[in-house]
Parts: sequence; structure tokens; C-alpha cells
Amino acid sequence: MKFACYRDKERVSYGAIQTDAVVCLPDLARQKKTKLPAELESLVASGRKPVEEAERLLETATAKEIKYASRSISEVRLLAPVRKPGKIICLGLNYRDHAAEQKVTVPEEPVIFMKPRTAIIGPKDNIVKPSFVNQLDYEAELAVVIGKKTKNVSLAEAMTYVFGYTILNDVSARDIQFKDKQWTRGKSFDTFAPIGPWVVSAEELQDTSDLHIRTWVNDEIRQDSSTKNMVFNVEEIVHQLSRVMTLEPCDVIATGTPAGVGFAFKPQPKFLQAGDKVKIEIEGIGTLENMVVDDAHHGV
Ligand code: MG
Repeated sequence: MKFACYRDKERVSYGAIQTDAVVCLPDLARQKKTKLPAELESLVASGRKPVEEAERLLETATAKEIKYASRSISEVRLLAPVRKPGKIICLGLNYRDHAAEQKVTVPEEPVIFMKPRTAIIGPKDNIVKPSFVNQLDYEAELAVVIGKKTKNVSLAEAMTYVFGYTILNDVSARDIQFKDKQWTRGKSFDTFAPIGPWVVSAEELQDTSDLHIRTWVNDEIRQDSSTKNMVFNVEEIVHQLSRVMTLEPCDVIATGTPAGVGFAFKPQPKFLQAGDKVKIEIEGIGTLENMVVDDAHHGV
């Protein structure tokens, strides 16, 4: 199932994507005289039961009930499917082709950093380019959404803690990142974590070992790779990270980016400018699109 968060006029809710509509799950539950959590993040944190209930409701609802609970995707504003994760953990150098374009060797263990949740924006929200950032870049990443709390999970059991998958654009200010020689400041600006367009459940997207992952900037293809180029796969990542820190429901893990980032282009890097449209597509998930704008608060 594909779970989306959206705003319909003043109301924020969530639902299941069916073709070009989103079926409001709390509304459907109300019609069927039952209940589902009011927010998607509560549903993620509540284990399998509400997910099975949502599946049952969709299967047993009449066409009239579905229609009543449906909104056309074009009529609502999609929001980031997770907006208040406890943490966003990101892997660096997790694609062989991306390591090769930087002429660095792949790490022996996952190299990680974190992005603050205040950086999250949703589909079609604007990426704000600060006035003092000159080298703004994109990074298409498969993002894992954790479903259950865990620590020290074995490799064999790691996947049972994954709720689903979405797309994260690990927007980066390269001038700051390379000057600081570590990642946090250059990757933590507000709007530097577009997430969406929805979360695909791990039941629907069972195999993430060879997903086509692509990025376009203004219709020019920049990244064109596959998750098969990942150094550490999803189960290895969940296992390894859980040896470091407790993973909690709704935590987001961005699994690294493939080759084709802006700074690696020769002879000239291709950085993002105001007005650029960044589109990321991952097979089996969907498309995440955001536009770059200049910071309105120049000189602050
Ligand atoms: Mg990254």
C-alpha cells in the first residue's frame, strides 16, 4: 500500500493512493463504524494491526464508500509522509558509482551523519537557496521508514523493523560541506530534506535490491543508476545502525546517493540555481519534485 499525507483545504489527513486518487483512511474507517489513528505517523508506530485494518477496509468498502472518502491527488496538497521523525540518519558514500566519481574507496562500515527534522519539506515545496550558499546540489536517495523500535537487531530480523520506503533528496551546500570537512552544517538548512511523495509499505515493495533511481534537473537527466550499486543494502544498514543507536518508529534512514551529483560533473560542476526544478524517481515508489528558490531574506 502507498500511504500519503495531504492537506485538503485546511484539513490535514492521510490515505491510500489508488491510481490518481487518495482514499482518506480515517474517513473510510468512520463510514465503516471503526477507527484508525488520526495521523499517519501514529499508524506507522502502531504496528501491523492498523495496517491490516486499513487493508481490510479497502477490500470490503463499496465503490460508493471509496468514492466518498476519495480526493483527486491533483485537488489536494501532498505533504511529506513523515514530518516529525525522531531522527533522519543519512549514509555517506553508499554507492559504488558515486564513490568512483569522487575517486574515493568505499567504506568498510556505514559512514553516517544526521539531518534535523526541521529540514523536511514535502512534494512541490520549494528548496530555499540561502544567499551565502553558492554550490547547491541534489542527491537522490531511497529512504527507509522504520516501523518498530529496535536495538541490536540481527541481520536476519532487520527487515521486520522496516515499515516502508520513500524518496529523500539529500540537498547539500557543497561549499559549506567541503569547507567544514564534515556534513552537518552543509546538509541541515531548512528545506534541505524534501521527502515524498508517499511511503510504500514493505509488503508492497519487498525487493529493493535493484530499483532504478533517477534525477532530472529541468528535464536533463543527471543521475541514472540502480540500488544494486549500493555498498550496504537495506537489511545491512538497519542491522548496523541498530548496533549504534535505538531505532524508533518513523525514523528515516536515507541510504546514500548514486553517481551524477552536480559537483562531480566535468569540466564544469552543475550546481542548482533559483528556478531549477529537481525531479527524482525511484522505481516502485514514485516521483518527488521540488523547485529551487532564492532566500527572500537576503543578507540576514
Ligand atoms: Mg547523501
